[in-house]
Amino acid sequence: MPDGVQTAVLGLPRIGPDRELKVALEAYWRGELSGAELERAARALHRRQLVDAAAAGIDVLPSNDFSLYDHVLDTALLVGAIPDRFRHLERGSLELLFAMARGTDTAPPLEMTKWFDTNYHYLVPEVAPETHFSLDPAKPLAELREAARTRPVILGPVSFLSLAKGDRPLRALDRLLPVYEELLRRLHAFGAQAVQIDEPVLVTDLDVGVLAAVERSWERMAAAARGLDLTLAAYFGGLGSALPRVLALPAREIHLDLVCAPEQLEPALAALPAGTRLSLGVIDGRNVWRSDLEAIAARVEPIVDRLGADRIRLAPSCSLLHVPYSARREQGLDPELRGWLAFAEEKLEELALLKAGLAMGPSDRARLFAPAHAALEARRGSAHTHDDHVRRRAASLCDDELARRSTAAERAPQQAERLALPPLPTTTIGSLPQTTEIRDARRRHDAGELSAADYERFLKAEIRTAIGLQEQIGLDVLVHGEPERNDMVQYFAERLAGFATTEAGWVQSYGSRCVRPPILFGDVWRPKPMTVSWWRYAQDLTARPVKGMLTGPVTMMQWSFVRDDEPAPQVARQLALAIGDEAVDLERAGAAIVQIDEAALREGLPLRSADRDGYLRWAIDAFRLTAAPLRDDTQVHVHMCYSEFGDFVEAIARLDADVLSIEASRSSLDLLEPFADYPAQVGPGVYDIHSPRVPSSVEMEERLARAERHIPRERLWVNPDCGLKTRRWEEVVPALERLVAAAQRRRAATTTAVAA
Ligand code: GLN
Ligand code: ZN
Repeated sequence: MPDGVQTAVLGLPRIGPDRELKVALEAYWRGELSGAELERAARALHRRQLVDAAAAGIDVLPSNDFSLYDHVLDTALLVGAIPDRFRHLERGSLELLFAMARGTDTAPPLEMTKWFDTNYHYLVPEVAPETHFSLDPAKPLAELREAARTRPVILGPVSFLSLAKGDRPLRALDRLLPVYEELLRRLHAFGAQAVQIDEPVLVTDLDVGVLAAVERSWERMAAAARGLDLTLAAYFGGLGSALPRVLALPAREIHLDLVCAPEQLEPALAALPAGTRLSLGVIDGRNVWRSDLEAIAARVEPIVDRLGADRIRLAPSCSLLHVPYSARREQGLDPELRGWLAFAEEKLEELALLKAGLAMGPSDRARLFAPAHAALEARRGSAHTHDDHVRRRAASLCDDELARRSTAAERAPQQAERLALPPLPTTTIGSLPQTTEIRDARRRHDAGELSAADYERFLKAEIRTAIGLQEQIGLDVLVHGEPERNDMVQYFAERLAGFATTEAGWVQSYGSRCVRPPILFGDVWRPKPMTVSWWRYAQDLTARPVKGMLTGPVTMMQWSFVRDDEPAPQVARQLALAIGDEAVDLERAGAAIVQIDEAALREGLPLRSADRDGYLRWAIDAFRLTAAPLRDDTQVHVHMCYSEFGDFVEAIARLDADVLSIEASRSSLDLLEPFADYPAQVGPGVYDIHSPRVPSSVEMEERLARAERHIPRERLWVNPDCGLKTRRWEEVVPALERLVAAAQRRRAATTTAVAA
């Protein structure tokens, strides 16, 4: 047993440093890899990450954190929450796992949604009153067999049920608990010494009864698992007022996220029962920056003195699932910037350094932390992070620079006159199918096989085809189709100062899907126009208006790793100014419509409602600032990929956009109700682009008619519910033709009913 404080991790990245898991999964789905080969590949990956973490000097390593697809889905399978439509498939089989994850010809998959406030997506378990839970412990046992001294990670029963959909799933707790009890007994019998039970739901606003449910579950689990060392892990925020009751649970160890919620440390220390250990989540598991080891050691040392080393563990704030593998590998990055970064591998090293440093006297420790300290100092003083011009400009803004010149009602007639559109104008959200040819050309261009000039020629030909097709289809407001964009955030990140992009900084988004979030490390500004020439090329081909297409400041932040040395509202302000500069250039080039996508505005909502107003204030201000410099007769569209606005319609109104397009095709149009008094125009999606299904024209007409019951025709637009880049032209052309036909028939209709 090592002396001093131990180090622990709650979970490791699992896709493989080169996305090996994705490669293996996709080969398996194509039928090129057998199930046994897939499992072998997965085992090798899992083993390798444990070996690496052990080599880095981590004392407590996780198991069952690995997943072929998603850990919430694994939990559903573990406890037997298998919806009827999959019941005929064999328990424990890959077939069942992937059927629930991806659906079959006859059974739609589980729904997917965001894992708390991260960009990871989990599959939503379905729990019905008749769900019969039963244990299949094969996976955690197999991982324990592979690595005997690991601490299995289990998603706790209350979080599991809270994430599930169904009729008040938490009522199923008493039926579920025997399965958890049995699981713990099995793990213990199998040789597990400790188990980590994650209850991240504890950092959210708790409905009545949830905390009591956690207490009940812990009484039962602790009784069933006598002799097992149980950790309760809560992360992504603070426990708030639940803290004292959580500390009093019969757990041997409580893990706290002290990066998101450092303020809970003191009260936790004050209320910690004598027999309980504290796992201090002091290394940021969600972001990519090196830690201030000196500062952490200074905070931890007195706690160690007070409680004793055996009652303290050091850990990342949450699972390392949310950061890429290794910053060291990013040889394409500016070495200075690279030196500031800590991905998963470097975070494990930081933990080991912290542990070593805590066991040393001050001067040895200072020597040990010197390289980390130097990197931090360099970052603080670097010309790469600070740009006086940007700062002066952001600081000199006054409130009226957030607002457009006139009100929406005053702008509308000016825009109507300039655009001369028919009622119920038709348009799309921006991207058109990203075909294999487009991806291929981009790849060859990136690899240096296709010259810049040839690539440009290729893209222009794509745009020309896209404009021609849209004219033929009869759309009123056209788009250039975004063929030049690899991704709506990365494209701009590659062109704005203050951002860096990585070569292998992949993190799992869902299943085999990985993303490479850009790194926003410094003050942001726009060295030169980013989209104007593409827009101009497209507009020159047609007499109809072509929308300029931008990604908004909040979405840029939400889908990037953001600097931690500057408050989010300031960062948003800089981004807003930079993107606003582009909007103004589009306007000067002649664009009559500029669309600013804020796909992630809602995702950014903080977990706790008390924090929401603050977030919405700066996020919406950033959007307003982006659009503010545009003339009254320039129409600003905003697109958002969701429609459950519920209580924040008011916030949406404050965006002061002229036209709002939302995802509504999958939901009931009743959600348009709150928009009845919305000052601007609305385009509720009438074509669900998330499915390959091409809706009929009558169906879309019907949806329009229903929309008109909530929003007057003069304020309605007709569009799909999101960008079309994931679809194929074979689907898109007929779908858009039917959309246009539906709009035309509605224009002729005089009532809100659809003629048979
Ligand atoms: N303009 C983007 C597109 O059409 C918007 C995508 C999004 O909001 N997710 O692809
Ligand atoms: Zn969208």
